[in-house]
Amino acid sequence: HAKSQGTNKFAMFDFSINKRTQKRNEIELFLQKGDFFKDLKLFYQPQFSIPDGKLIGMEALIRWISNKNKIMTPVEFIQIAEETDQINEIGIWVLKEAVEQIIDWNTTYGQNLKMGINISPKQLDSTNLFKALNDVTQESRFDPQWLDIEITENIAMDSEYRLSQIFNLFKSIGMSVSVDDFGTGYSSISYLKHYTFDRLKIAKPLIDSMVTNQAGKQIVQAIILLAKTIGINTIAEGVETQEQLDVLTELGCEQIQGFLLGKPMPADEFEALFLSTQGEAFQSLGTTNTHL
Ligand code: C2E
Ligand code: MG
Ligand code: MG
Ligand code: MG
Repeated sequence: HAKSQGTNKFAMFDFSINKRTQKRNEIELFLQKGDFFKDLKLFYQPQFSIPDGKLIGMEALIRWISNKNKIMTPVEFIQIAEETDQINEIGIWVLKEAVEQIIDWNTTYGQNLKMGINISPKQLDSTNLFKALNDVTQESRFDPQWLDIEITENIAMDSEYRLSQIFNLFKSIGMSVSVDDFGTGYSSISYLKHYTFDRLKIAKPLIDSMVTNQAGKQIVQAIILLAKTIGINTIAEGVETQEQLDVLTELGCEQIQGFLLGKPMPADEFEALFLSTQGEAFQSLGTTNTHL
């Protein structure tokens, strides 16, 4: 019996590897197409200040609309694009697209909303990124304060000298920098003293643990206190429940982002919600949309 079970297990394992290879092949084929950009789209997830519930900005999150009209999330294809260096081209596309969008919204509606974009570690090696950032700032209708660069905590652990130069560059252009997924992975918080970050994005696993155990809550409380002490903002990522929102409000977290208040959505939907709520979205921005 044990032997036949073992065989079954092996068969299942084998199957999942095949599926992964298939997925990978599909992504590689996609990235090999000269015109893959036309299947990319940015979704936007709203960010709010608490406790007043004002819309303060959004995070641009890339989506690949596959030929079967399926919406593919970025985790896998971003990783492969990093390996093939295509992340550089994609990153510049994201930057231009997101900047155009925030110029449109802020000038049309007289807002000062902030657009967050994600930057991969690899992109920090690319001079093209900095050239593109420079180009963007030449656009007269654009205010650099409208852009926030999200960098994952792991990158923040990279060569300190190089990073401080890169961050100084972002800052000298007038853009803000957020540490993404703060509190995940293995890291040291000592790097925080070297750079002028503007915001910590508290990672979803911490937000989840906050309501399931006391230690989780204390850790989030300590992070918020740390941020306040060094004079930067905190935003909670992946907030899904009212209970989490209540605890974050109690702990003095300044901002939140999560499915509770809005999923990532296409630009036209984001705009429609903005218009129907006048940017005061807590009550009305529900979980009505079903996008990823
Ligand atoms: P991230 O930057 O940490 O983005 C937040 C992720 O959490 C997004 O996943 C978002 O859809 C998801 N999320 C937000 N609120 C909730 C929630 O309440 N519950 C749950 N379960 N999830 C929530 P997404 O869009 O799949 O993106 C995954 C990651 O891919 C991003 O993590 C980011 O690291 C990367 N990524 C996305 N877009 C880009 C891009 O344009 N360039 C680069 N380099 N990376 C990107
Ligand atoms: Mg992010
Ligand atoms: Mg994150
Ligand atoms: Mg991330």
